[in-house]
This record gives sequence, structure tokens and C-alpha cells, in this order.
Amino acid sequence: MLSCPNCKGKDLGKIGTRQFYCWGCFIEFAVDEEKVVDVYQVEEDGSLSSLNDLFIEDSGVQI
Ligand SMILES: [Zn+2]
Repeated sequence: MLSCPNCKGKDLGKIGTRQFYCWGCFIEFAVDEEKVVDVYQVEEDGSLSSLNDLFIEDSGVQI
């Protein structure tokens, strides 16, 4: 079961084929198979800033 890489919440909205939005902590993330490959924070103006430095290791994050 997919869960948020930040808060581990399951309250997720699907926004694309591989992209999800967490209602718990307001981040977007992209998955590739079983791994989170991109994490973004949604800013107040709607732009995205990457949080990959915080979350993504070389091989992705197992979820
Ligand atoms: Zn979350």
C-alpha cells in the first residue's frame, strides 16, 4: 500500500499516472514501481520545490 514518504500517511490523492499528493503534509511525490523517485513541496503560490535532497537516496526510497 502506497504511503507518503514524509508523514507515512495514506490519505493520498492521485494527480497523475505516477504522481500523488499527500493531504497530510501537502507534498507531491512521484513513484516508479515501488519507489519514490521525486518529492516536491507545493508552495503557497502553487509552484513546486524539490525535496529530493531530503528524501531520495541513490536508489530511490522503498515504500
Ligand atoms: Zn504526507
